[in-house]
Formats: sequence, C-alpha cells, structure tokens
Amino acid sequence: MPELTAEGILESSPRMDLETRFMFGCGPDKACFNSCCRDVSILLSPYDVLRLKNALHMDSSEFLEKYTLTMRSKDKQIPVVLLRMDEQTRKCPLVRESGCSVYAHRPWACRMYPLGMAEPKGPDAAAGRFYFLVEEQLCKGHGAGCEHSVREWIESQKLDPFNRMQTPFLELMSHPGWEAPDPMSQEKLAMYFMSLYDLDRFRRFVTETRFLELFEVDEERIEAIATDDEDLLELAIDWLAYSLFHEKRMKLRTPADGAAMSSASQSPG
Ligand code: SF4
Ligand code: SF4
Repeated sequence: MPELTAEGILESSPRMDLETRFMFGCGPDKACFNSCCRDVSILLSPYDVLRLKNALHMDSSEFLEKYTLTMRSKDKQIPVVLLRMDEQTRKCPLVRESGCSVYAHRPWACRMYPLGMAEPKGPDAAAGRFYFLVEEQLCKGHGAGCEHSVREWIESQKLDPFNRMQTPFLELMSHPGWEAPDPMSQEKLAMYFMSLYDLDRFRRFVTETRFLELFEVDEERIEAIATDDEDLLELAIDWLAYSLFHEKRMKLRTPADGAAMSSASQSPG
C-alpha cells in the first residue's frame, strides 16, 4: 500500500483516470461505519466553508471559530483551514451515530473518499491530473459494493459545484505572485483569509465600507452578492487577484481612487 504522503502517492500509487474502474461500497452495514470520520485531516476550501456554514445556519465567523483550525503554509504563510476534530474523542464534530449530519453539504474531501486527486508540479507536471485510491486498513469498503468508474463516482457524489468553485480558488493559490521574494504582509494575508473564508464578514466589507464607491461593480452583481454566497465568493477571488497581484479583474471608478484604496481595505469586524 503506497504511503499517503505526496511523495508516496506520486511514486507508487497506481494512477487512475476518469474511466478507471474500482469496486467500493460504504454504508451503515459496515463494521467500520463512521470510523473514517475520526482523527482525519480535512482541508476545507472556501466553498466547503460556504456550504457548511449555510447548512448549519451559522455566520461564517462563528462557523470558523467553532469548527475549524487555521494554520499557515510553511513556505508562504498562506492561511489554510482544517475541520477541527473533537479534542477528546478525535471525532469530527459533525458525525452522529447515524452518519454525517451535514451529508448533503459535506466537504469535497469527504465526497471524494476513497479517491484522492493529484496535480503534479515540476518535472512530473506534463503527466497532468490523476486520481488514486486512498486505501486505509480501517476501511472495509474496498472491493465491496458495486463497480464505479472515477467519472461515475464524481457524478454520484455531486462534486460538480465543488469542482467548479474550486478552480478559480486553485488558480489564485497557484498564482506566480506568491513566488515573489518579499513575503506577503500580515495585513494582506488577513485580507486573503477574510475574503475567502469569512464570507459574511467580506460581504460587510463590500457593502459597509467605501468599496462600492471605489470600484465599478455592475448593479446586477451588487444585487447578486447581497444574497448569493457563490457570487460573493467569485467577487472575493477577483478582488484578491486585483489587490494582491494587480490583475485587472476589478476597475476603479477613477484612477485617483487608487489613493483611497487603503481606507477601503479597513474591513469591518
Ligand atoms: S471506513 Fe470506508 S466503508 Fe467504512 S464508513 Fe468509512 S468510507 Fe465507508
Ligand atoms: S464532514 Fe461529515 S463526512 Fe466529513 S468527516 Fe465530518 S462527519 Fe465525516
């Protein structure tokens, strides 16, 4: 069984494409039911956070405080968000005896399981994206149930909206601007975290500061972001690409407004 590290996966996991078939079956009849929801590192994307906080009818700040841990990547100190396991039991706080309490809104990683996805960088990059099986001894689902192709699995787990919302986020994460020799300021990293993960706070930043006075945002988009978190997340990504990496995804109403940018960056608490 290949080691579940990036190196182990790249070196020895059999690579699967969308048509590769595998046997897997999961359900409450399995002795291992729920054991995969314990002591596990689940990285949450901004869209995962959006789905979970809405499923739980929580404000994003409250959700982040109660259910997540925020860490910084080693190299660039980019904030990353993980689902926080219960300190005593090490269980996911969202698991119940009957299974996942947010099943329809569970994160990308939980939907994909037992599949993983890798996007090699560097010399291996030409091989492109591939999928692999996460084979853990605790999981009795391998070789059980029905045969699926990777494509069928992705469809059956309703991963499409997650993948669609993940693409612009991954583009932002892999932006060459992160490679600049100067580290990003703490203020900019805090803005990155707020805009992507603390969406309700980002909405207040847009609507309660001079943001809409400074930037041209069409009326339709303003109406959409008032109620639609997906539209708001798309605006957050455009705003970050503009403010962190000077991409022309946003337009100032007048060039002189550039001087007022710093005051717009003071987000409300
Ligand atoms: S360990 Fe595997 S088979 Fe058991 S509940 Fe989790 S995913 Fe299903
Ligand atoms: S979110 Fe749901 S599926 Fe994912 S680890 Fe928690 S309980 Fe399990």
